[in-house]
Amino acid sequence: MARVVIVGASTGGLPMAYDIRKALSQDHEVTVVSNTAEFQFVPSNPWVAVGWRKPEDITFPLEPALVRKGIDFIHCAARHINAEHNQLLLSDGRVLDYDYLVLATGPKLTFDEVEGLGPNGGFTNSICTTGHAIKAFDQWQTFCERPGHTVVGAVQGVSCFGPAYEFAMIMDKDLRKRKLRDRVPMTFITPEPYIGHMGLGGVGDSKTLLESEFRQRHINWICNAKVTRITSEAIYVDELDAQGALLKQHELPNTFSMLMPPFKGVDLYDDAPQGLVNPRGFVQVDAFNRNPVFPNIYALGVGIAIPPLEATPVPVGVPKTGLMIEGMVTAICANIKAETEGREPQEQATWNTICLADMGDTGVAFVALPQLPPRNVTWARKGKWVHLAKVAFEKYFLHNMKNGNAEPVYQKYILKMLGIARIRSDEKK
Ligand SMILES: Cc1cc2nc3c(=O)[nH]c(=O)nc-3n(C[C@H](O)[C@H](O)[C@H](O)COP(=O)(O)OP(=O)(O)OC[C@H]3O[C@@H](n4cnc5c(N)ncnc54)[C@H](O)[C@@H]3O)c2cc1C
Repeated sequence: MARVVIVGASTGGLPMAYDIRKALSQDHEVTVVSNTAEFQFVPSNPWVAVGWRKPEDITFPLEPALVRKGIDFIHCAARHINAEHNQLLLSDGRVLDYDYLVLATGPKLTFDEVEGLGPNGGFTNSICTTGHAIKAFDQWQTFCERPGHTVVGAVQGVSCFGPAYEFAMIMDKDLRKRKLRDRVPMTFITPEPYIGHMGLGGVGDSKTLLESEFRQRHINWICNAKVTRITSEAIYVDELDAQGALLKQHELPNTFSMLMPPFKGVDLYDDAPQGLVNPRGFVQVDAFNRNPVFPNIYALGVGIAIPPLEATPVPVGVPKTGLMIEGMVTAICANIKAETEGREPQEQATWNTICLADMGDTGVAFVALPQLPPRNVTWARKGKWVHLAKVAFEKYFLHNMKNGNAEPVYQKYILKMLGIARIRSDEKK
């Protein structure tokens, strides 16, 4: 009998729990530990922030969904990993023994890396959690009563750019719907060396495509941007040149702003044993998504360590997106099952990017196979169908999660929809 403990129950952790429960016989135990009682569909947060979704549309309680599937649920934060003794300590003092630990803890949002950043004690909004998006919607409504200049984008060190682009376009669309767009100058700021880089060196002609979209929507931009400080009145930005030297300093009015923060590993890893995490607290994994030092600890999702693609004048990280996360779930599930049957882990996740970026009424689909260049498949296409596909994905994924079904949506449907029959094994990590 094996005890599998999964920490985190979001985009990565919840499908992981359903998948492993289905793969293992009932004499094995599966337990989920989550510091949130609800599942939140993170990709819909930008819609919550402009009131296009209510929080209850994109959240549901975890416990009944998990218990129905024979999975134990503990609503509590994991506080310490005693990897030598295969024990997980919880913040309420409980100790869980495990044979396999799966870490799906996502990122810690490090607003404190820039003075004045963030919704709690700072002067910018966030859409990273549904709670942040609810707060942003409050401010958005106030802003729409007295419109002014908006700033959207990402600060130095960010690895997740898609939501920033999406939110800029969604704000633009929402303002046009309200007939307020003519009263709102918009500036997009980003550490990326060019628009559409996204931490991936661009995807297809994402540069031209997104620049053109920004031009058509009258969204100005500043690349190689380093935010030095934020006050309630202004956002101070150093714009660097390609060599990293100061090109220009900007002082942008801060009436309504949303800036993505840099990520690091969550607090659980502050006292992690040597070799579990890298210096920024991301879990180190091998080709089979296992930690090399503690091979019965697996990890997936935004919380794992991936080195940056290339040196850029202002640091940017590599994003971890849905298809990659789905691939990691599939691989870990197969590997733990193999281990319980006395076989060696063999399954590797495909590290590829497919991103459906919503733009309010239209959208852009990005495909990067494999994720980092040079690639076998790389393209970006715009169309209304992307917006519709994203809405369909939201409904389908939420339906599956509520009903305990973790079928790989990207592999089964989205790759086919995009005309990509399958991902070759040599495109694996
Ligand atoms: C606003 C936004 C929109 C995005 N949109 C897309 C998109 O459209 N497509 C796409 O491919 N990717 C998207 N992403 C990127 C990525 O797919 C998501 O961030 C995804 O939710 C990451 O999943 P995860 O499970 O790794 O981490 P998370 O979703 O962050 O989940 C981690 C969970 O672990 C819990 N946790 C953390 N520490 C502990 C602890 N000590 N004990 C117990 N529980 C703990 C957290 O509370 C959280 O519930 C988006 C990201 C953001 C921020």
